[in-house]
Amino acid sequence: MYQYQSLLECIEAHSRPFVAQGAVANYIPALAEVDPDRFSMALVTVDGQVFSIGDTHTRFTIQSVSKVMTLTLALQRYGESLWERVGKEPSGTAFNSITQLEFEKGIPRNPFINAGAIVTCDALYSRVSAPIHSMLEAFRTQSANAKVIIDKKVAASEYEHRHRNAALAHLMKSFGNFDNHVEEVLKAYFSYCAIELNVIELAKAYSYLSNHGFCQYSNQQLLSSRQTKQLNSLLFTSGLYDAAGDFAYRVGMPGKSGVSGAIIAVAPGRFTVAVQSPRLDKIGNSVAGIEALAKLSELIDFNAF
Ligand code: GLU
Repeated sequence: MYQYQSLLECIEAHSRPFVAQGAVANYIPALAEVDPDRFSMALVTVDGQVFSIGDTHTRFTIQSVSKVMTLTLALQRYGESLWERVGKEPSGTAFNSITQLEFEKGIPRNPFINAGAIVTCDALYSRVSAPIHSMLEAFRTQSANAKVIIDKKVAASEYEHRHRNAALAHLMKSFGNFDNHVEEVLKAYFSYCAIELNVIELAKAYSYLSNHGFCQYSNQQLLSSRQTKQLNSLLFTSGLYDAAGDFAYRVGMPGKSGVSGAIIAVAPGRFTVAVQSPRLDKIGNSVAGIEALAKLSELIDFNAF
């Protein structure tokens, strides 16, 4: 059994110098207002132990890490038929790229780039009567905090600067791959991105990914064991923007990052880990977050193969 708390202390000492590297995302103005020097990390084991380090009380918006929950809720309702509307391949282009979507006739490469998440939101919107409330409830029960809220300032800032995401949605609509009102779906999408959690809540919320689809906090089987393996496979190939290959090589875990500097990673059967530090590398991943996860993988000699 690993002494996870002392491992985290060692990881923090290793990662702190990297916190100053990179730049905070500013294409959503409200995101640029965060304290750039934050670092926090939490690890939740499948038997319910929680270990953490750093600024664990401060909440941050989870941004693209929410795409994993969107996919989970959509898979619960559509199963395999969801894949008629979104692919399973790495994109090889930026997370908000438009050109590939044009070439591929409005079917996004995977559910973790913006177009793929937005079309998944559209699918969810068709089957859930109060989608924003349902998403909040999912995070509340799974993170064991009934008070989880949306940062309305960030959601409004994203909506105000929505043009590229709106273009993706309209392009999909022109190809017949979008059913609902674009503005309504975008509001839901931005609300999911602007959900605020601290790093412990984030690790708890995604603990089902390491536990065969079972969430120990909500006591719910969210996905079947097979679906969970499949979701983790997609995270492994597409969860880290255009750096998924490098992350697979260095860290070797399924993962998902967001422009707020949050990253989750999954050691199936063992733990889910979350880390957050706002400064990003050129691809959009937290510099210190990647360093921390690479160090964790090295220290526990993790190897999924
Ligand atoms: N809300 C962000 C956007 O749609 C999420 C991007 C991300 O975290 O990758 O641009």
